[in-house]
Amino acid sequence: MALTSDQVKRLIETVAKMVIAEADRLTTLDQAIGDGDHGLNMKRGFEAVLADLDGLSRKPLPDAIKAIGTHLVMKVGGASGPLYGTLFLTLGKELPADPGLAELAKAFDAALTAVKARGKSEIGQKTMLDVLGPVRDALMNASPDPQLGDRIKRVATEAAEATVNMKAIRGRASFLGDRSIGHMDPGACSAALMISAIVDFLESAKA
Ligand code: ADP
Ligand code: MG
Repeated sequence: MALTSDQVKRLIETVAKMVIAEADRLTTLDQAIGDGDHGLNMKRGFEAVLADLDGLSRKPLPDAIKAIGTHLVMKVGGASGPLYGTLFLTLGKELPADPGLAELAKAFDAALTAVKARGKSEIGQKTMLDVLGPVRDALMNASPDPQLGDRIKRVATEAAEATVNMKAIRGRASFLGDRSIGHMDPGACSAALMISAIVDFLESAKA
């Protein structure tokens, strides 16, 4: 589905405002198993994205996604800044201007591989990868049926929930060892929230 520049603008605005609105929740999660800055980090990054909304929406979709990656690298900080930056930069580099499902899956796979390399991390270590991985798998195996959006949202939400019972092996939460068990990973939560917001927007744009 080709997005108009107005839709690209509203998509970016919707996701950025959602992240900013959820900052306290992300901070609370990071207070439990990290240093309590994930919400603030993400809020700072997406405020920079919002401030550049007009500039971003004048770009073709892949360039806009790359530029979002650059904002996140520069503003989010922490471990998650370079990782989300890498995710968006790679997605922007790999996506064509009007991607179909197969191209989206391929780009998402490349972005996941790049994040793993950047974080020296793997799926199963209680990080954002534990949401991104299952979503990649769902996209790779997907057919473009009307339930696809709901499936992707369910996969992302359940994958974030599943990090509650995992033990952190990467990132700050790994310092807690077994005490990291029982709390959702903040980066898994932010990843699931962003994926759900993007799906919701695309579904409403299709309707
Ligand atoms: P910091 O941990 O530096 O305070 P944030 O609080 O912003 O940074 O982000 C923490 C989140 O980043 C974690 O919940 C986790 O999902 C993700 N994360 C941290 N390290 C890694 C890594 N090596 N690979 C993948 N994700 C990671
Ligand atoms: Mg933190």
